[in-house]
Amino acid sequence: MKTTLQGWGAQRRVECDVHSPQTTTEVTALLDAAGTLARGLGRSYGDAALNEHRRVVSMTRLDRYLAFDEATGVLRAEAGVSLEQVLRDFGPRGFLPAVTPGTKFVTLGGCIANDVHGKAHHAQGSFLSSVDSFRVVTATGATVTASRTENADLFFASFGGMGLLGIITDVTLKLRRVETTYFRQQAIVVGDLDAMLDALAEHDATSPYSVAYVDPLATGRSLGKGVLTVGDHASLADLPKAFATHPLHVAGPSRLGVPFELPELTLNPLTIRVVNQVIQAVLRGAKPVSHAESFFYPLDAIGDWNRGYGKRGFIQYQFVVPLDGGRQTLRALLEAIVSSGQLPFLNILKRMGPSNEAPLSFPMKGYTFAIDFPVRDGLVALTRRLDAMVADAGGRTYLGKDSWLDAATFRRMYARLPEWLAVKRRWDPHGLFTSDLGRRLDIG
Ligand SMILES: Cc1cc2nc3c(=O)[nH]c(=O)nc-3n(C[C@H](O)[C@H](O)[C@H](O)COP(=O)(O)OP(=O)(O)OC[C@H]3O[C@@H](n4cnc5c(N)ncnc54)[C@H](O)[C@@H]3O)c2cc1C
Repeated sequence: MKTTLQGWGAQRRVECDVHSPQTTTEVTALLDAAGTLARGLGRSYGDAALNEHRRVVSMTRLDRYLAFDEATGVLRAEAGVSLEQVLRDFGPRGFLPAVTPGTKFVTLGGCIANDVHGKAHHAQGSFLSSVDSFRVVTATGATVTASRTENADLFFASFGGMGLLGIITDVTLKLRRVETTYFRQQAIVVGDLDAMLDALAEHDATSPYSVAYVDPLATGRSLGKGVLTVGDHASLADLPKAFATHPLHVAGPSRLGVPFELPELTLNPLTIRVVNQVIQAVLRGAKPVSHAESFFYPLDAIGDWNRGYGKRGFIQYQFVVPLDGGRQTLRALLEAIVSSGQLPFLNILKRMGPSNEAPLSFPMKGYTFAIDFPVRDGLVALTRRLDAMVADAGGRTYLGKDSWLDAATFRRMYARLPEWLAVKRRWDPHGLFTSDLGRRLDIG
């Protein structure tokens, strides 16, 4: 059916031929030689889940659980199951997703295709670390199992593979056993970039979860100031009385929402300053124990918050640069942003742990920074400048957030691309799996 789709940043709307199968057999029947792409909940910001004038296989109706082993926490589920479902259904039984991004409205298939990372990357790795195996409909129509020991090339290349190797239909993954669905957390106010990077290094050694919010409008000696939040799962003994009666509590869906796109004028330097001051005050005043949902997914409390950026939409620009030389690179990138006249809105900084076996996985040991920008004239020119600086520093940008990266700079950023392309040629020699992002970056 012809349907207009967009990425989470809503900067482009494109017409696609969308189908919503309920079984693997139906998925196989939908393979279209003119170009096919799986789509999850559309939380990628740019064009990763768009396939203009071509087929899109929406996976959200393949959302059943297939098996669960309470003793090991191993879950087998269809690829359209979301982390929201997993939290809601397994939280009360004492299990949470082992690795989660900053929103729970993502599918298991989408988490594999972007090899998503969370606030504990330095301690726990990315989504790959929690997955044992999956089944995938390949370009010939055959469904194969991929794991570390079976079709291992397809397994690893699918993490960060942007859906361009096949359609994942079900996933076997390990959930994390927890005593409570709460978090212990501590907020640390930090005055500048050097102090922030020192604080991240110090706390990453002891706290599995950490994330820094950096004031996007701070300049000069205050550049990089913000609030670092560190934490870990709370045990029963950590809970105050009010929470201890329901230690595995999970809340229902939020009712708050942004009902329509706000006019673009809503965001200007003044409103951005005010909103960011409010955010910093909320972070500074955070309670020592909070629920996992507010710790992991602060933005999910407001449905459709992406509409708040107005009709031209927004981008999130996320990059990672190596630790070596990282301070200077971060400073140069932040200065380029602050002096650009664009409106950086939310700045999130983290240290990442080492990269993994997946050739196109984004994380690498270094500093990662994510910044939201409402789309305005001149923004593409800024991101091109930033892309070049990131590539020169040996870093890369995150495809799950990307909108405008060009193929040549992408090749400079992802040195293991030739390895991934060899897997693509083996499993999809005629390029059946394709997307707007794949064609833009010349990978599918
Ligand atoms: C508020 C917010 C916070 C976020 N925070 C983080 C974060 O902290 N860390 C992080 O890593 N990411 C983060 N993201 C990005 C998000 O986690 C990823 O974009 C994720 O892949 C989205 O999952 P989805 O189900 O919506 O997939 P979609 O966006 O619909 O698709 C993403 C990719 O997955 C492919 N795909 C989907 N399903 C399948 C399947 N069954 N088989 C094969 N390919 C498939 C698609 O083709 C596409 O290439 C955030 C996004 C938002 C909106």
